[in-house]
Amino acid sequence: MNFTDLNINADILKSLNYKGYTEPTPIQERAIPFVLEGRDLFGCAQTGTGKTAAFAIPTIQNILPLIRKEKGRKQIKALVLTPTRELALQVSESFEEYGKFTGVKQTVIFGGVPQSHQVSKLKHGVDVLVATPGRLLDLMNQGLIDLRHIAIFILDEADTMLDMGFIRDINKIIPRLPEKRQTLFFSATFPPEILKLADNLLKNPASVTVKAVQKTTDQIEQGLYYVEKSDKRHLLKHLLKRPELEHVLIFTRTKHGANRVAKDLAKWGIKSAAIHSEKSQNARQNALSAFKKREISALVATDIAARGIDIAELSHVINFDIPNIPETYVHRVGRTGRASATGIALSFCDSSEKTYVKSIERIMNKKIPLLELPIFERPVEDLSGGQPRGQSGQSKQSGQVAQPKQPWQGNKQGQKSTAASFGKKRPYPTSKKKGAASQGNR
Ligand code: AMP
Repeated sequence: MNFTDLNINADILKSLNYKGYTEPTPIQERAIPFVLEGRDLFGCAQTGTGKTAAFAIPTIQNILPLIRKEKGRKQIKALVLTPTRELALQVSESFEEYGKFTGVKQTVIFGGVPQSHQVSKLKHGVDVLVATPGRLLDLMNQGLIDLRHIAIFILDEADTMLDMGFIRDINKIIPRLPEKRQTLFFSATFPPEILKLADNLLKNPASVTVKAVQKTTDQIEQGLYYVEKSDKRHLLKHLLKRPELEHVLIFTRTKHGANRVAKDLAKWGIKSAAIHSEKSQNARQNALSAFKKREISALVATDIAARGIDIAELSHVINFDIPNIPETYVHRVGRTGRASATGIALSFCDSSEKTYVKSIERIMNKKIPLLELPIFERPVEDLSGGQPRGQSGQSKQSGQVAQPKQPWQGNKQGQKSTAASFGKKRPYPTSKKKGAASQGNR
């Protein structure tokens, strides 16, 4: 299957060609024809599957006739709601890129920054608006946004919206949209509230499911180090010396943890930045953009801050700690190995986190291969408290630590492999077996 088989407008095809995309991903292959037909869509897909293009491409195409007919100032014809500023920016960039030869005008609005620049763009008139719910409501209440001409409404990452407490805002926005419209609904998971929301919003929707959990983790080489909590930073320092780990996203469970790791990285001379809820929107955006441009080698992030972030060509993710919610692990490792890129996810697990690993393995229905701890250095000041567990016969002064198996390590987790066995290239799975699992009407 090729994009040219999907009845896509020549100007959009030109932009896809320009981006080097030839084959649609499974979600694109299945969703685009339904959306072009004007059907509502219930899409079960997580970020990394190519879902943005799956809605952006046909949305642009569907509004082109409206743009041609329009006289006077542009009215908003398509509205995309996303939970985070980062995702909003990414979605808006996608509309910009896929629509660049079509004349479609788009803009993005989100909170945490002054509204003046956003308002002035809106006043010039746009066809597509990408927004986070709070800022949208705010500008609507000031009479600065008119949603009466919306032909297509897209709710992206509905489950994250729910997790982040946006459901009330969404319920205030929906009644202000025209009854007669096309609605596209995307979510990676379907708790009962999401199903209820989808039921309220969608009319006779086509349903497209891309088996999210399995597929994303299948594309990614995963490995697990069992390591003492206090040794995690030394292991990190050791691993970051490897040339293949020159551009890495590091996850921590807490913002304090993120700050601590970022401080360590600075001490080791590694250029990095941290993103979490206490950083200003601007600081978060600057950090992300510096990371994307490879001006810094490491980005340390908490889960909410990193959700939905798309970093092309990201090869490595490190879980400095193991998330206590198993789905979070899947979201984290999904930052790497996106689209056609191969990804590697390394996780550091201390004795208190072993039960989290078990839950993760249960939902993935597979073991994370256990990696042998490399020999790493522990600085002299860290040895002053006495010989650490698992260390034997090594000079304290040298700081050299040969890591024998920890008492709690065991080898039940799966086969051992070394990091050297990672890095095999895997093609983007396009077969039905690995990609879109089901399709049909709800
Ligand atoms: P998304 O799931 O929308 O966040 O997309 C994940 C990544 O896949 C993004 O970097 C997209 O630019 C990329 N992508 C989307 N569609 C394709 C495609 N058909 N071929 C190659 N890469 C793609």
